[in-house]
Amino acid sequence: MRRIAIALITALALPLAMTTPAGAGGLDDLFAKLLVKQVKGPNAKKHLNALQAIATANGGTRAAGTPGYDASRDYVAGKLRKAGYKVTLQPINFVESWTENSPPTLNLTAPGSKTYVPNEDFFSFQPSPAGDVTAQVQAVDLTLPPTPTPTSTSGCEESDFAGFVAGRIALIQRGTCAFALKIRNAGRAGASGIIVFNEGQPGRTDAFPLDIGEWRAGVPMVFADFAVGNELAATAGATVRLKMDSTLVLGTNDNVIAESRFGDPRNVVMAGAHLDSVPAGPGINDNGSGSASILEVAEEMAHFPVKNKVRFAFWAGEEIGLLGSDQYVASLSEAQRDRIRVYLNFDMVASPNYAYKLYDGDNSDNEGSPAGPPGSAEIEKQLEAFYGSRHLPTVGTDFDGRSDYGPFIDVGIPAGGIFTGAEGIKTAEEAAMFGGTAGVAYDVCYHQACDTIANINDTALDVDLDAIADSVARFAFNLRSIPPRTAAAAAPLAAKTAN
Ligand SMILES: [Zn+2]
Repeated sequence: MRRIAIALITALALPLAMTTPAGAGGLDDLFAKLLVKQVKGPNAKKHLNALQAIATANGGTRAAGTPGYDASRDYVAGKLRKAGYKVTLQPINFVESWTENSPPTLNLTAPGSKTYVPNEDFFSFQPSPAGDVTAQVQAVDLTLPPTPTPTSTSGCEESDFAGFVAGRIALIQRGTCAFALKIRNAGRAGASGIIVFNEGQPGRTDAFPLDIGEWRAGVPMVFADFAVGNELAATAGATVRLKMDSTLVLGTNDNVIAESRFGDPRNVVMAGAHLDSVPAGPGINDNGSGSASILEVAEEMAHFPVKNKVRFAFWAGEEIGLLGSDQYVASLSEAQRDRIRVYLNFDMVASPNYAYKLYDGDNSDNEGSPAGPPGSAEIEKQLEAFYGSRHLPTVGTDFDGRSDYGPFIDVGIPAGGIFTGAEGIKTAEEAAMFGGTAGVAYDVCYHQACDTIANINDTALDVDLDAIADSVARFAFNLRSIPPRTAAAAAPLAAKTAN
């Protein structure tokens, strides 16, 4: 077990009572320099070797629902407890299996009657729970007739359900936000069943089988073609029978959450990495690298009397839909969310053909998703400054929703972090900046069996570990650049997840 020398603790603890300016020479700067010295690439590599051994002993994988995941959880939780953290295991659910036992039913029962044809007019919306409900249909913020290009925000905002009568079946139009968001909002509004229909533009009229990985509304759901939706919307007082004959089996995995003993719980600095791999491989770069790095940072700073609470999260079920981070954020009250001042995400930080990519908090690249919530630009700037201090270049990477920051930025929590690249191809310009090979993927073993310990770039691991330590340490003492997060600031962001 590694510990910080007592002299250092005292040196840091004494000036805490005094007001020390931030920046160069401030406590944040002092602590960042200490922690960067303290963390060691070979220590992170030891964790990666342990994760590799766990995968090897468990059929070559650490995926959701496998013993390799549970062993990874036990390893990380054990190290954190030994370092002195209060560790919480938060159970989260995932779909273990879903079977359609017989075709679904959707019949208009009043006024008049009509039988819609399953697997033609409509399909089961996977993974819909079983259910059999007859109730009045209520339209939710539909755009009819549809606009020439997709614009419908039906069900995207909680306010769409303001007049919704609990117990009715929600009629929702496909549009510009994620299906999962519509489903969740309908569930919260008390819908007894959900019909989502295609939006209505050319190419967006038919029904088809669709798996959205979302079941938590707990009610039967179908995906219907535009004609069905349009007809039900035009039928005053339409009542339908909606029946789903399916078997949904849920599994459970644990998020591992560790919190610093020191620090103000009203100001939480969060650092997260997903701990699960894909079924195809051991996931040592994706995302043993992020997990091992934040574990090393956590161990080395365990005894520092930090000013703000630091919370480390090792997410379950990222590879099957960001389930760990999503269910974590969903479990927080508004007040608990407000206390999380920054969320730092580390997913793939040691890619063999790496580039130092920072999440584009200010949207300066003007690519894909918009800027992150207020504060995200400042997180990016601070990370940039670290690489700059080493004379290392960085490039931006879009908040494309492909990792665990997604649920945080969706509720307005500023986020940032490092990514060294996945299946994307390194450009000639990047090869000139970072070395490596142009025209080849950043990680040729992305989501494959060859994502082993041999797939780790030690230089990238070493540098990124230092950058993580620097960033966590600075925010642990100084959040002045981050605006307070409020529910009002969060509201306009809720619907931005791309569909
Ligand atoms: Zn990943």
